[in-house]
Amino acid sequence: MHPDIFHRDFTPTPYWWEAYRPSAGELVEVPRSVRVAIVGGGYAGLSAALELAKHSIDAIVLEANELGYGASTRNGGAVSGGVNVGKSFTGRTIEVDGDRVERVLSDASDAFALINRLIDEEKIACFWEKPGRFVGAWTRKHYDGQSQRLAMLNAAAQSGAFMVPRERQREEIASDYYFGGMVVERSGKLHPALYYKGLLDACRRRNVMVCAKAAVTRIVQSSSAWRVETNRGIISAGDVVIATNGYTGSLTPALRRRVVPVASHIIATEELPPDLARSLIPKGRTLSDTKRVLCYYRMSPDGRRMVFGGRARFTQVDATVSAPILHHYMVDRFPQLRGVRVTHAWTGNVAFTLDALPHMGRRDGFHYCLGCNGSGVAMMTYLGWQTARKIARVANYACSFDSEEFPDHPLYSGNPWFLPVVGGYYRLRDSLDRLLA
Ligand SMILES: Cc1cc2nc3c(=O)[nH]c(=O)nc-3n(C[C@H](O)[C@H](O)[C@H](O)COP(=O)(O)OP(=O)(O)OC[C@H]3O[C@@H](n4cnc5c(N)ncnc54)[C@H](O)[C@@H]3O)c2cc1C
Repeated sequence: MHPDIFHRDFTPTPYWWEAYRPSAGELVEVPRSVRVAIVGGGYAGLSAALELAKHSIDAIVLEANELGYGASTRNGGAVSGGVNVGKSFTGRTIEVDGDRVERVLSDASDAFALINRLIDEEKIACFWEKPGRFVGAWTRKHYDGQSQRLAMLNAAAQSGAFMVPRERQREEIASDYYFGGMVVERSGKLHPALYYKGLLDACRRRNVMVCAKAAVTRIVQSSSAWRVETNRGIISAGDVVIATNGYTGSLTPALRRRVVPVASHIIATEELPPDLARSLIPKGRTLSDTKRVLCYYRMSPDGRRMVFGGRARFTQVDATVSAPILHHYMVDRFPQLRGVRVTHAWTGNVAFTLDALPHMGRRDGFHYCLGCNGSGVAMMTYLGWQTARKIARVANYACSFDSEEFPDHPLYSGNPWFLPVVGGYYRLRDSLDRLLA
């Protein structure tokens, strides 16, 4: 325990919840029948419901907890257009087959365009900006690897990426911590909980039923419809969409075996002196790095606090464990933040897949969109939207993430007991890489 890093007003809840705190609101009654039942009320579930409503298809969103309980109000709010696609939780970028890679990156780029359009069309006030991202190279070799990936990102995802050598790094970050890095211009940032609230409001404006505290406990197929059992009643539905991402549980064992829920943790600092705050990330970009166990960070929307995240541990741990580790990582990068105290620390689940790609499709008859692999603000919004368009039969083309292949592993049944060991191992590998850099 490092009590000196905790501010006297410290709270172990997301900083974002100061603006929108997940709430059940007035409980919407669970209807008897609906055309589409969506399980999970995060970005994916809401965006699917919203798109269905636009095609006059009635849908219900069933959320086990408060609205916004999952990762959608807990994330870092960095919005990427493809730079992270294929990056696994071991930090390794999994090579996608020649043909498919361009389609995958092009879909990731479309995901960025979609979120931009949705925020605009629905007038979502969520501090949406497009300042770009700086990805710091942890080693010289990583810098070279980034340089090699650059052309592909620019060609397939129109990323507007360019390299920044170490000598010019201070134009991006008030630190000499990295071996240079890559700027990806086509990236943005937003307030994740306000974006969530904006999607929720948009659904409500179109009379979409969004039911909090309605955990789905069983889904059974009958001859003509699905019987969706919840703790607040039974619904008959024509189609079912599973949008539970890092919170996928025993309801869908076949999907649970295909996603590994990995915890990610974030801290927010107290308000910093204005000059210091302005100096840390001069261009207001979001930042991440090429470590296996990466960190991601940015300034808060008002520019006064550092919001610093990473996989301090791969599992859910108490803030008294995660906050000191993240604070330490932050001070490694910004020694000028030594002594700055933490006001908020929180955690949430990210869903990793075994091929490090997001997935949508059909299994056992129902639709699913899962597997953000750490970058889901744009991507899960997009997969929900794509799933809805598929159900509405208005999709012009098959999304590249809509594939029959959704790998599992014979030794993994959905219980990620191995994560603490894996996390420790990759942290060690990171340290060794750096020593040899
Ligand atoms: C700490 C953290 C930082 C992140 N940072 C970023 C970032 O900077 N940029 C980025 O792009 N992505 C980031 N992500 C990932 C991003 O937040 C997620 O990809 C995205 O929010 C997933 O949205 P979703 O709708 O698929 O799932 P979620 O928002 O997680 O929602 C799933 C919901 O399903 C519900 N559910 C589960 N089972 C049932 C059931 N049986 N019945 C009913 N409901 C059920 C859960 O209660 C949950 O609310 C981060 C994630 C975390 C945790």
